[in-house]
Amino acid sequence: MKTGLVILREQSGHETGSHPENARRFPGVINRLGEDSREHDLPIFESREAEVEDLLRAHTDSHVENVRVAAENGPTWLDGDTVASPESYGVALRSAGAALVAADAVTGPERQADSLFAIIRPPGHHATADRAMGFCLFSNAAIAARYARDVLGIDRVAVLDWDVHHGNGTQDILYDDPSILFISFHQWPLYPGSGWIDEVGVGEGRGYTVNLPMPPGAGDREHAEGFEAIAGPILDQFNPGLLIVSAGQDGHVADQLASQNLTAAGYNQLASSCARFAASKGIGLVALHEGGYNPETLPLLDHAVLAGLGGFAPDLSGDSIAPETGPTGWEERLAQIRRTQSTYWAV
Ligand SMILES: [Zn+2]
Repeated sequence: MKTGLVILREQSGHETGSHPENARRFPGVINRLGEDSREHDLPIFESREAEVEDLLRAHTDSHVENVRVAAENGPTWLDGDTVASPESYGVALRSAGAALVAADAVTGPERQADSLFAIIRPPGHHATADRAMGFCLFSNAAIAARYARDVLGIDRVAVLDWDVHHGNGTQDILYDDPSILFISFHQWPLYPGSGWIDEVGVGEGRGYTVNLPMPPGAGDREHAEGFEAIAGPILDQFNPGLLIVSAGQDGHVADQLASQNLTAAGYNQLASSCARFAASKGIGLVALHEGGYNPETLPLLDHAVLAGLGGFAPDLSGDSIAPETGPTGWEERLAQIRRTQSTYWAV
């Protein structure tokens, strides 16, 4: 399984100050993944700017214009925790553009890799069709999914989001769209509050949104079981032509923004499960960085993800230890998810 990277060199132009989502998150990541790329001879692609028409497949005109103007006059707070600085609009175009570079490179007869991991910020999955929120300006995953469908001609695209927060923005954009499956693992309850089991899509999109709200304290085992019991079978039945992963590593046991107990081994396993699924269908995989806010642990976690995508052995030494006690109510929760999803899928 040949993996590689898409790098956004200008990411520090999106200035957020002392905010958890800041330009200090990625230098250590780039160093660590750069070592991996040399050791395993992995390709590195440069980002490009997405066009406004690419954004408009997922966002309203007025939202795109709001972000552009907010940045021009920045720093401007777009909501309580989302800021646009003067270069943020340009960086956000390149963040979304990295997703398009990745989609181009893993699809078509001349595909250059089986998967690519785009190290991008600002992240995207909280940005709705008409609103920036939760550190996110544009939904990179939804923009890439619509680009894959409308420009690359891929009829069915799947988005799997394992960030610890619900991908409400991606869900909002795709909610009535049966051509793009959206699956989200996230802690519940937690910001932004959405993502309960009964949010399954509307209209023709009914059944194409799959939420796995994980109880506080869930870790590697629960995520693996959720993948095996729900996400994997639904992906298989949906049979996409491209898999996009919203890869946020903020469910790690040492990340302060939530209370999940995932370890680097758990992220490695999730990435590996996704890569094996893509390989089984002969399709490309695009992983887009979302959350992950502990700069001490993020290089190790992103290394674990890249190794899972590329099928090489990770070095997970130095990872934090997760508590052995599991969450309460997980078996019942999984049964409840299965009951709801069995209306639409064989699970
Ligand atoms: Zn998150």
